[in-house]
Amino acid sequence: MKGGLKRGPAELALGVRAGDRRSLARAITLVESTRSEDEAQALELLRALLPFHTRGLRVGVSGPPGVGKSSLLERLGVHLVESGQRPAVLVVDPSSQRGAGSILGDKTRMVRLAREAAAYVRPSPSGDSNGGISRATGDVLMLCEVAGFSPSLVETVGVGQAETAVTNVVDVLLLLLEPGAGDELQGIKRGLNEWGDVIAVNKSDGARAELARQTCAQFAAGLSSFRNGESAAPVVCVSALLGTGIADLWAALETRYRELEASGALQRKHREQRKADLYRRLAIALMRRFAHDARRQAEVRSIEQRVMSGALLPAEAVELLLQGD
Ligand code: GDP
Repeated sequence: MKGGLKRGPAELALGVRAGDRRSLARAITLVESTRSEDEAQALELLRALLPFHTRGLRVGVSGPPGVGKSSLLERLGVHLVESGQRPAVLVVDPSSQRGAGSILGDKTRMVRLAREAAAYVRPSPSGDSNGGISRATGDVLMLCEVAGFSPSLVETVGVGQAETAVTNVVDVLLLLLEPGAGDELQGIKRGLNEWGDVIAVNKSDGARAELARQTCAQFAAGLSSFRNGESAAPVVCVSALLGTGIADLWAALETRYRELEASGALQRKHREQRKADLYRRLAIALMRRFAHDARRQAEVRSIEQRVMSGALLPAEAVELLLQGD
């Protein structure tokens, strides 16, 4: 937010609570900002809004590039609007994550949802993010929820680290795969067992409809054998292109959420998420303290050089830095 806020956090909070889109957009820009003067205002804003916040269902949508995440987010978003809900959809900024060739395609695909008054679509910024998930994503979701946009769909690109990052802010993770992706089963089974999510095989249409059906069956059989006693992650065949399977997919995600809620696992997850957020922020704050402490710049640089040359172990350097603090 260059030049600072024209309106103060108190006024902005009122706008967010009233569901005003421009206020929401400004508020999100503020919480995403890393300028220290903005951070103080962001904190004031979030504090003012906390009493009015009720967390809603948050779904992470993950999968390799090209599997159809943007197309599916649009379909799911429209489905939610048509069933009377007001979804928030956080999408990965295409200019930061994809090849230049697909930028136009992404923009045109989200057009329908972006025009919906009952939906809020927001691209995630490129910097400081992990497959689309940044340190501010949890705050962004809170702002959307206070503004009346819920459930939320959070896109994340890639598997592995980005998936771990998204589980820190969502309740249920949807993994999107392509027909014939059976080989990936080995790699994902652990994650699925840990997080208890839903799998969708997209592009279940045209020439690949039969292959998709086989892939679904293969996953369903494979997953039930991994889960000792627990209910297996549901596997759903969908086509974001044709819009088939979308209602079933949403029902599966909601059912999963209710199951987690009923067993107490959801509440435990939220506690763990808050703890992870605490330590993530602490790590960022500590790093910044050293980066911005003018008094110790020379010392920090010298320690850094010694680590780089191999003369000092990184662990020793940490001790030195913390001791002198
Ligand atoms: P993302 O990179 O995961 O967000 O994938 P996109 O949504 O950008 O889709 C990648 C490509 O797959 C595009 O050319 C889409 O038109 C196509 N696509 C997406 N969903 C489907 C589907 O259900 N069926 C078919 N046949 N193509 C799809």
